[in-house]
Amino acid sequence: MERGHGAAQEAAVICYHAPMQIWDRSAHAWALGGAAVLALFGAAFLASPEPWPAILLFVAAALWYAAHMRRSFRRRRLAREPFPAEWRAVLEANVGWYRRLDPDRRAAFERDVLFFVRENRFVGVEGVEVTDELKVLAAASAVMLLFGRTDREYPRVSEILFYPRAFSDEFRTEGAGRDIAGMLHPYGAVVLSIPELRRSFAGESDGYHVGLHEFAHALDLSSQQCDGFPLGIDPRLVRPWSERLREEMERASRGRGALRPYAGTNIAETFAVAVETFFERPEALKKANPELHALLEEYFGRR
Ligand SMILES: [Zn+2]
Repeated sequence: MERGHGAAQEAAVICYHAPMQIWDRSAHAWALGGAAVLALFGAAFLASPEPWPAILLFVAAALWYAAHMRRSFRRRRLAREPFPAEWRAVLEANVGWYRRLDPDRRAAFERDVLFFVRENRFVGVEGVEVTDELKVLAAASAVMLLFGRTDREYPRVSEILFYPRAFSDEFRTEGAGRDIAGMLHPYGAVVLSIPELRRSFAGESDGYHVGLHEFAHALDLSSQQCDGFPLGIDPRLVRPWSERLREEMERASRGRGALRPYAGTNIAETFAVAVETFFERPEALKKANPELHALLEEYFGRR
């Protein structure tokens, strides 16, 4: 969830990055292994008088392979699709982080944005028309968090919902209590208020970014809850990660430290706000808590 907004100015750093992988080698190993086992069973039935068991097992082997490799084949096709000029204009006009990439990495980032847009479902709530601008801004938020690691994907993002304005705990956009700018539903829906998403990109150095915040939760979502330990964290980082986050949670709850006070809500919010701060005010975070900055740098692949 994302509430509140602080303000400060600082330039973000330029970092090294790696794009999302097209051909998933581990999925390919599973696909080949499972298909081979099914095909071997099928071959064992070839000598039997009844052909159907062998045929069914060969078909199952083919389906197993196709199911595991569907994303890799789709990405091979998408990688040949030109990046729309209108989408590039959205990135250039709104995403300072993209503008600071060198041309090769810009191209890789564009490709990842294309993958994300084509692979996910975007839904407008209360009559909102889902435009290319909204899709690209949401995708840019998501891809920024993945861009350091080729092997990382969001485990459970099911769809992205756009609300016309901030909403309440009951998802109401009228009446009292409408102070929620974004939310991650436990089943993987990322909910974003459109004005807050646009404001997040407009104020790129203020440590507030609802897109980064909610997709940080999406990396952290396991077993229908967020605990501040995101997907793929190195086991040797877990202890210092926990200690540094708790340190900042405590500071934030007293209105101190590098993170917005909202980071003091709980450990999952501390992580999400730390991600916003890491991307938007890295030098401030490095100064206030160099160990936490180094841990986030290692996790996100920045150098
Ligand atoms: Zn949150």
